Amino acid sequence: MNTGEPLTKLGHKAGGPNHRLKMGNLIVLTGPSGVGKGTLVDLVMSRVVGLVRSVSVTTRLPRPGEVEGQSYFFRDRATFDAMVERNEFMEWAEFAGNCYGTPKSWVNAQLKAGHDVLLELEVQGARQIHSQSPAAILIFISPPNFNELEERLRARATETAEIILVRLQKAKQELQEKNVFQYEVVNDKLEDAANNLAHIVYAERLRIRTSEG
Ligand code: 5GP
Repeated sequence: MNTGEPLTKLGHKAGGPNHRLKMGNLIVLTGPSGVGKGTLVDLVMSRVVGLVRSVSVTTRLPRPGEVEGQSYFFRDRATFDAMVERNEFMEWAEFAGNCYGTPKSWVNAQLKAGHDVLLELEVQGARQIHSQSPAAILIFISPPNFNELEERLRARATETAEIILVRLQKAKQELQEKNVFQYEVVNDKLEDAANNLAHIVYAERLRIRTSEG
């Protein structure tokens, strides 16, 4: 669909004036490493009103250009483990040798305030959210094809050859696990993928929910 209107305007229409009075939607975005989730999310965030993005905690070291508190909260393993012990994560998982977790209290506060919250997770995290919050909206971002994914991952050149292999292996597994998701968006053309994602967010705001927390 292309109405020719800016998406922010569409957002007001689709969401309606009262959408902030309701609990926000929890939206999980998953897709193989190198599929371009980050760029896609940046674009969607700049266009959709009432949508916030959760910043995860990770034990991974920052990549060049990544900013503490914006890209991730970078913590050592002992600090991460202590947070797990204190039950501070909504979900957490180990991926390619590092841990990643979603801060529970921040996400819940945002949902209560009526904001839709976007989580960018690998598959295990998406599954955890799905079982504990069945109303969560799960979206899988696919590459146009596997070769393209491999090229993107190698072109990014932020990981060693060994880690790239691990991530490609993970990507193969993740592509086989898409059945838990309700939507699939192919990230072929960035603009089209961003539009599709935005439309999913708007459509979900109009869903009639029988049991809302
Ligand atoms: P990267 O190291 O490339 O930033 O992230 C590796 C994978 O971890 C990506 O698939 C990313 O979506 C996922 N990820 C990032 N934050 C979290 C989180 O809080 N929980 C889980 N389960 N996965 C995450």
